[in-house]
Amino acid sequence: MIRVVVSGAAGRMGQTVCRTVLDDPELALVGAVDIVSAGKDIGEVLGMDNLEILVSDNLAQAVDEISPDVVVDFTHPSAVMDNIGSCLSSNTNMVVGTTGITEQNLEEIKSLLKTSDSHIFIAPNFAIGAVLMMKFSEIAARHFKSVEIIELHHDKKADAPSGTALKTAEIIAESAGIPLKSADSKEAVKGARGGDFKGIRVHSVRLPGFVAHQEVIFGGLGQTLTIRHDSIDRSSFMPGVLVAIKNVGKAKGLTYGLDKLLEL
Ligand code: NAP
Repeated sequence: MIRVVVSGAAGRMGQTVCRTVLDDPELALVGAVDIVSAGKDIGEVLGMDNLEILVSDNLAQAVDEISPDVVVDFTHPSAVMDNIGSCLSSNTNMVVGTTGITEQNLEEIKSLLKTSDSHIFIAPNFAIGAVLMMKFSEIAARHFKSVEIIELHHDKKADAPSGTALKTAEIIAESAGIPLKSADSKEAVKGARGGDFKGIRVHSVRLPGFVAHQEVIFGGLGQTLTIRHDSIDRSSFMPGVLVAIKNVGKAKGLTYGLDKLLEL
């Protein structure tokens, strides 16, 4: 059995991860951490019978007391680096889905790993469809040099643009082989052309009703190519999260991106 602590357990993703862990015969939910619902039984938070697991509001303390095999983190961009620090300093393996992790943060994590035996897996998107969207975009970028990204998420998402949009832009910029430059046009309304990342315009839509969606639109002579992915339910992320939990112990150090665990 792989013993799992879920950090952010009372959140939208965290609750779905807790249910997924409880349903998997190879996994055991042994702890739940969240600043919301601290002191409550996680079963009550999930709307089921008590599980005799009280929600803790202190990840470092929970890891110290429980010694889990893996901590899964779906919290908040402002919390995730502290959480990673806590797990790495106690040599605990970690699966991180929280977004907002920058390239500089990744360098910090690599530096922390020099004195830690932890294995850490980070993915900006755990949905297989999103991973394929990025893969197809990588191929298209060899043939189209004009591209914009529109990502659409629920209105409670803390960061913009999404980690998936940034990762997609990075992959496209690398695959294009030449520096990309977005088309200039005078903005009558500030921000109308979106943000520029690696020469690619990225537009973030935040509305109730959405879960996680993205369109990558390539433009060429007399044609466009649109690659679109829709997560219409948070269950879309769970097969990827399970693969990560079950494999994080195998790859040493930092692994970034679900594509590393799949044969594409
Ligand atoms: P959410 O519903 O706000 O859940 C996050 C939970 O973590 C909330 O209960 C939050 O409390 C809590 N929290 C915040 N700081 C904490 C801390 N220091 N320690 C413990 N708990 C803390 O958000 P969500 O929709 O589940 O998303 C969580 C993260 O996952 C976001 O970064 C999101 O972008 C990301 N995400 C990733 C994927 C992927 O495939 N990689 C997919 C979907 C979402 P408060 O409400 O008080 O802040």
